[in-house]
Parts: sequence; structure tokens; C-alpha cells
Amino acid sequence: TLSDRLTSALQTLRGKGKLTDADIDATAREIRIALLEADVALPVVREFIAQIKQRAKGAEVSGALNPAQQVVKIVNEELIGILGGETRRLNLAKNPPTVIMLAGLQGAGKTTLAGKLALWLKKQGHAPLLVACDLQRPNAVTQLQVVGERAGVTTFAPEPGNGVGDPVDVARRGVEEARHAQHDVVIVDTAGRLGVDEELMRQAADIRDAVKPDETLFVVDAMIGQDAVTTAEAFRDGVGFTGVVLTKLDGDARGGAALSVRQVTGQPILFASNGEKLDDFDIFHPDRMASRILGMGDLLTLIEQAEQAFDAEQAEKAAAKLGTGQLTLEDFLEQMLAVRKMGPIGNLLGMLPGAGQMKEQLAQVDDKHLDRLQAIIRGMTPAERADPKIINGSRRQRIAVGSGVTVREVNDLVNRFFEARKMMQQMAGRFGFGFGGGGGS
Ligand code: GDP
Ligand code: MG
Repeated sequence: TLSDRLTSALQTLRGKGKLTDADIDATAREIRIALLEADVALPVVREFIAQIKQRAKGAEVSGALNPAQQVVKIVNEELIGILGGETRRLNLAKNPPTVIMLAGLQGAGKTTLAGKLALWLKKQGHAPLLVACDLQRPNAVTQLQVVGERAGVTTFAPEPGNGVGDPVDVARRGVEEARHAQHDVVIVDTAGRLGVDEELMRQAADIRDAVKPDETLFVVDAMIGQDAVTTAEAFRDGVGFTGVVLTKLDGDARGGAALSVRQVTGQPILFASNGEKLDDFDIFHPDRMASRILGMGDLLTLIEQAEQAFDAEQAEKAAAKLGTGQLTLEDFLEQMLAVRKMGPIGNLLGMLPGAGQMKEQLAQVDDKHLDRLQAIIRGMTPAERADPKIINGSRRQRIAVGSGVTVREVNDLVNRFFEARKMMQQMAGRFGFGFGGGGGS
């Protein structure tokens, strides 16, 4: 994954001043590979990387992050922005019924989506009507009826026994029926083909003209990868659409189709389908999709938390001391509190790339333990905190009584502190963030 490949870059020290071209190029190369692996179409990757470089060139380096992290952060923000920032809501008509038309290739998941959308809308107090306009495949109408029954909504279908009906006529009558029977949303399911096809496009366009949808949703299988671009372009030109629904996100697709479709058509992604059951469905979350595409959700979380907890001045002070091995218990306490803001220490460690061998060592330092350490350190005089070596037997006795612990616990802490000081020196050399140890060597 990207985070594996970026590990060495991420271990460099925290940055100062501006990002250099070399920093940007090195990270951009890795991001490029990650995007291609996520099946983002090549022209889209090129355009996106160019955009990223542009933005990164002018960017100040944050004190909390090293250059590689900084570029990853920019990429992530940019990706979220392109994927839509805030999720766009469904457009509901001022004068109901709202007409929603579904379009896309055969097998994309339109009929399943019709049921999901109907159930979702029903839960919000709407009264949707499904309209079966796929008269291409023999079982398509029955499939929609089954889905409708499961969702507990009515399906409007052509009367059986009249031979192959006219989908445009069914669509028109479906909307009339909705008006008549007080349905406030109409979901029009249409036929698809295995590939882009003129006749299919014409039929979809005719249905569109007949019912004038408030939303035309292009339904696309996230697994089709690179083909998403050509398919999306064909539907944009042949039918036009106002929004996108990505399906089959429960598969192992990294979701590059999302970026491709969004970038090429400019239309927002409204929903995500992630399974065959009717409630395997959610509004689309650009931030989740961005980390899926980058394949580095954990790393992004870590970057975010590092930024939140970062206190430049304090860390610099500690870093200077770390270099000379002069870390005091006072700093130790401050650092612990800073690390704490980053969440339970166990989670944090799991997210550090390459922290494997260190994990075991640190596993003993759990949150409860930190509480006690904090209590003991607060029971010390400033002189003792500044120079723990002076904490002799009688001082230990006094500290123990003062902070309500045993002498043994105080001994433990002092020993642990010397151990931790060693460890933090190692950490400072290894990572450019966390533990306030940036720039430590
Ligand atoms: P349509 O031809 O566009 O109407 O596609 P269908 O709704 O008939 O779906 C085609 C197949 O994909 C069916 O077997 C569905 O159960 C399945 N399917 C649809 N959406 C999803 C999804 O989000 N995840 C998974 N795993 N399968 C899906
Ligand atoms: Mg169908």
C-alpha cells in the first residue's frame, strides 16, 4: 500500500519553511502509483497530480508534519474537494412528485438501487413509487416488483400479456399514477446493456424527455475501474445526468472510478451502495472515499491527530533536550499529556508505520498507567522534576505519601522515566512527529 511505500519518506524529520520540489516530486510519484492502483483513469491521474504539485509548491510546511506527510495531507484535502466536499443532497421537486430516473449499464445495480433508494426515502417519510421501464430483459419487471415488495413500496408495471410494451409510455403513465395516488417521489428504473449502445441511449433519452426527471442518476459499478470514464462520458453525452451512484463498494475495488467519473463529468456522487441487501446503502462520504482511494486511512488519521496535539514551542524545547539527553520529568509529563490528546496510546502505536518492534515495549504503558505516573510527577518538587537523579530514598518516601502511592511505584516511575528517555530518543530519530520529539537528532 501507499503507506508502506511512504514509510521511509515519513520517517524523515519534520519540515521547516517551504516544501522543496524534491519533497513534492518524491511523494507525488508514490501518490501517482497509488491512484493507478486504485484504478483511477490515467488522464485523470495526470491532471490530478499536476493540480497537487501546483498547490504543494506554494504551501508552507506545517510545524506538526514532515514534508511527506504534508504532501499526503494536501492530496487528501484535494481529493475530498474533488469528490464533492460536502455530500450533495437529493433535489426534491417543489411540486411533487419528484422524478428520479436511474441510468447505467446492465448489471450496474440500478434495480437494486431502486429498492434501496425507495426504502431510504420511505424511512424519511416519503411515499415513493417504483416504475418498471426495463422491458428489455424478461425478468426485469418481476425483479423490480420483488425489490419493491421488500422495501414495502408500490411498483408500477405494464400490464402483462400485451407483448413488449413501450418503456416511454410506461414511464409517462407511472408518473401520472404517482400524481393520482399521492406518491411524492417516483423512481424510474430503466434498461441497460452490457456495453454503451446507441439504441439504449436513445431509449433513455426518450424516457427522460417524457418524464423530465428532477434527478437523473448515473449508476456505476465501482469494480469497472478504468472503463468508468468512457461509460460516464457516453451517458453524459447520450442522456445527461445530475448525479452519480457508486455501487458494489463492498467489493475490493479501491474506488478510483469515483474520482474518474467526478473529474470527467463534474457531477457529484450522491450515494454509495455496498451490498446486495436493501440497507447496504448510504449517502456518499467524500472523506471516506478519499482515504479508500489513497489506501491509507490509518495514516491520515495519524496525521490529523499529530496536528491536533502538536504544540510547536513545547516540542521544540523537548527536542533540544532530547538531543542532549536532558529530558526532565516535567517535559515527560507535558509530553505524556500531548500524546494523550492523540487518543489511547495503543491505537496510536498501531498506526505508526514500521513501529512493530517498538510496539511491544510500549504496550506496557497503558492509559491507566499514565494516570498514576501523572499523579506521582505532580507530587514532586520542581527541582526533582528537573533533575530526577536527585530523588533519593527519603525524597521517594515523601513523594509516595504525597501522591498516595507506594515507594515501589515511585521507584518504578523513576526507572521507567530513564527507560522512556532512552526510548523517546530512539523515537525522535525514527519519526518526525508524536512524542514531541521532532528534529531530535
Ligand atoms: P441493473 O442491471 O443495473 O438493474 O443491476 P441489478 O440491480 O440487477 O444488479 C446486478 C447484480 O449486482 C445483482 O446480482 C445485484 O444483487 C448485484 N448488486 C447490486 N448492487 C450491489 C452492491 O452494492 N454490492 C453487491 N455486492 N452486489 C450488488
Ligand atoms: Mg435492472
